[in-house]
Amino acid sequence: MVVAPLDLLDLDTSLSDEERQIRGVVRQLIDERVRPHVADWYEQGRVPARELALEFGRLGLLGMHLTGYGCAGASAVAYGLACLELEAGDSGLRSLVSVQGSLAMYAIWRYGSEEQKQRWLPPMAAGEAIGCFGLTEPDHGSDPASMTTRARRDGTDWVLTGGKMWITNAPVADVAVIWARTDDGVRGFAVPMDTPGVTAREIRHKMSLRASSTGEIVLDDVRLPADAWLPEAIGLRAPLSCLTEARHGIVWGALGAARDCLDATLDYARGREQFGRPIAGFQLTQAKLADMAVELQKGFLLALHLSRLADAGRLRPEQVSVGKLNNVREALAIARQCRTILGANGISGEYPIMRHANNLESVLTYEGTSEIHQLVIGEKLTGLAAFA
Ligand SMILES: Cc1cc2nc3c(=O)[nH]c(=O)nc-3n(C[C@H](O)[C@H](O)[C@H](O)COP(=O)(O)OP(=O)(O)OC[C@H]3O[C@@H](n4cnc5c(N)ncnc54)[C@H](O)[C@@H]3O)c2cc1C
Repeated sequence: MVVAPLDLLDLDTSLSDEERQIRGVVRQLIDERVRPHVADWYEQGRVPARELALEFGRLGLLGMHLTGYGCAGASAVAYGLACLELEAGDSGLRSLVSVQGSLAMYAIWRYGSEEQKQRWLPPMAAGEAIGCFGLTEPDHGSDPASMTTRARRDGTDWVLTGGKMWITNAPVADVAVIWARTDDGVRGFAVPMDTPGVTAREIRHKMSLRASSTGEIVLDDVRLPADAWLPEAIGLRAPLSCLTEARHGIVWGALGAARDCLDATLDYARGREQFGRPIAGFQLTQAKLADMAVELQKGFLLALHLSRLADAGRLRPEQVSVGKLNNVREALAIARQCRTILGANGISGEYPIMRHANNLESVLTYEGTSEIHQLVIGEKLTGLAAFA
């Protein structure tokens, strides 16, 4: 009898019934609603984001780890498992859900006024309103402290000027959480996308995350009322705390892409014959398969540990860096190794592997590049910051 890679260590016994049930529901949604179409969405470079957001909202996946305002209040482990299953479909879908729940909704939930929460969170939880999170700028990615987007006071109004780049969901968003420099340091603003002076342009020609909408936002003297700023978001710590939330989902999500690659590869290797026997029966192939299964299990244990810490209220940012660095790096290594086992078929869109591998290149870069996470961990180990 053969076992699936993630069943090797009976890891399911570490999950509660509720966690397994949520995982099953998301897996079914992906199997029925995403798998039949995702290769086409990827190839065409467009995804029915609004439709999917409504479906994800109906299942309670948007802001699912937040409480109140229509959010599900699920555990960190349940949220992680949902991210894993979403990203087994495609990293672009997990990105849609992560940006909505962990970046845009979390920023409003954690730092917004009661009026902002009432206005935005219930429709965002339902998928009726889509959010995005604008931190990165064309000239400032890893170093957001150098951002040049400015917000200045004009009477009681705020006026925002600048631009944000590589913003997931921006072209389809109803609201953007925009981070800008003020005379008083970095502050966050909830900006309705139909405000005069806001434009969002789709970034074309992406070779990765093609089943995800990514945009550039231009802010041309955007006038906002006094109550548009998130009153509790003071300094760069606020957007960085949102990134910690989203990275936590990525720790799990990357495992989903890797698992899907490995599942497809095992299936392929058992059926593909060369030299008169299945390539799965060659020792060199089995060495690859075994090493990948071991890394997948280790990544799962790491993700589970981090989420249990989060559920106990004890998860620290550098611990999330350990998870993001390891699990994305290993998922990408697994995707590339799986590609070799499929030979020429490995580069075909008929199989999910090249799509996952290409997607994981973005996942390696966004939410803090691998190098930035190494520097976060390095600083903790040495007491010396080596960022600049
Ligand atoms: C598909 C996609 C979606 C995205 N979605 C969003 C989003 O929704 N919102 C948002 O705000 N941003 C988003 N981003 C942007 C992403 O967060 C940035 O790309 C990322 O932070 C890296 O910034 P950069 O691309 O400007 O690279 P840079 O910061 O220019 O880095 C380039 C290289 O230099 C290295 N480097 C930089 N500084 C150091 C250092 N001190 N020491 C050693 N090496 C260093 C980096 O690790 C990297 O290898 C997205 C990006 C992609 C690709």
